[in-house]
Amino acid sequence: MTPMFPVLDMPQRLLMGAGPCNVHPRVLRAMACDVIGQMDPEMTGCMDETAELYRQVFRTKNHHTLLIDGSARAAIEAALVSLITPGMNVVVLRIGRFGLLLTEIVTRCGGVVCAVDVPWGEVVPPDRVRDAIVEHRPELLVCVHGDTSTTTAQPLAEIGAVCREHNVLFYVDATATLGGMPFETDAWGIDVATAGLQKCLGGPPGSAPITMSERAVAQIMARRHDEAGIRNPDAPQGAGPVIRSNYFDLAMLINYWSPERINHHTEATSMLYAAREAALIAVEEGMDARWARHARASRAMVAGLLAMDLSVYGDDATRMANVTGVVVPEGCDPIRVRTLMRTEFEIEIVSSFGPLAGKIWRIGAMGVNATKPKVLQTLGAFEAVLAGEGVAVTRGAAVDAARAAWGAE
Ligand SMILES: *Cc1c(COP(=O)(O)O)cnc(C)c1O
Repeated sequence: MTPMFPVLDMPQRLLMGAGPCNVHPRVLRAMACDVIGQMDPEMTGCMDETAELYRQVFRTKNHHTLLIDGSARAAIEAALVSLITPGMNVVVLRIGRFGLLLTEIVTRCGGVVCAVDVPWGEVVPPDRVRDAIVEHRPELLVCVHGDTSTTTAQPLAEIGAVCREHNVLFYVDATATLGGMPFETDAWGIDVATAGLQKCLGGPPGSAPITMSERAVAQIMARRHDEAGIRNPDAPQGAGPVIRSNYFDLAMLINYWSPERINHHTEATSMLYAAREAALIAVEEGMDARWARHARASRAMVAGLLAMDLSVYGDDATRMANVTGVVVPEGCDPIRVRTLMRTEFEIEIVSSFGPLAGKIWRIGAMGVNATKPKVLQTLGAFEAVLAGEGVAVTRGAAVDAARAAWGAE
């Protein structure tokens, strides 16, 4: 019998967009390991090791560090649905599209959104954070670290201190920066941070690491309920209402990752292997060395783009080190350029959203792609495509400038 479809064979693209990026070969190999059941004693060791590795990736001593099965937004939802009780004031710092995603999820969880907005491309200064806390008296403050939509990273170090001072829990979406830019959960006073694998951690989408401080866990456990969704009889007096999600109930997930291990969902075994291997690679490289590699790739990319006479979007001081916005030159069709990058060079670069749609391309260099060859290949191809489209770029300058900026090996 002739098969209905050919065997699956996907093209080998160089993913220089805003995520996913190419997966480290070791992660792909780890995913090929045999699947075992989540109650198998061998599984406990694998989960404990994974938790320990993510403590190092997140730079935290938080015991409660685990994985949510799903893409990065699964961990965002788990954090917010487990922390927010209906009617709770939540300050949301919005520097781009992912701040709007936080707004939407906070609203769905019944939280009252107290938004702090800045124009896209800017970040929120610490005194505006303090003012918002004093004005709204929130129990929770949420923000995005690197907002890939604007290629801008919100400085976090001072915000954590302000939150502690006012007894506000502090949640950060670190999806786009974890493993690619300095991120210090404990030193920055962050209570809950979440991420995904498909950006700077060099894994596939589908597993979302999360870390939680003791004070965040205390609040979540006070809402703990049993599997039937009935309020935990042991919950302290005045405990909040039940968590409105079963799959994303962090109280149940904390238990599932503890020695008690009351069964919850079927662990996404192959994704657990991927997450473990991705973190192991990051820890072996060393977080500082990994951040430095991303910064170097970013410097080389920016140098190449500027040498071509293109403009780079955003502020030097707050630009992300793993994705760069390039202003689309006058008269150039941004979609055609992306298509030609893909069809002629097998390279993916991406557009942006909202006010920046059609105005910038975003070129990432994350995980295994934050390397000299990938940056040089991308710049060379980009120059050829733009020149072919009639853009007046300086020919031959980009790759030379990027090689020089990379520095001696
Ligand atoms: C890419 C990204 C996400 C993606 O979430 P997914 O559910 O994995 O698509 C979330 N937040 C930020 C800041 C991102 O850059």
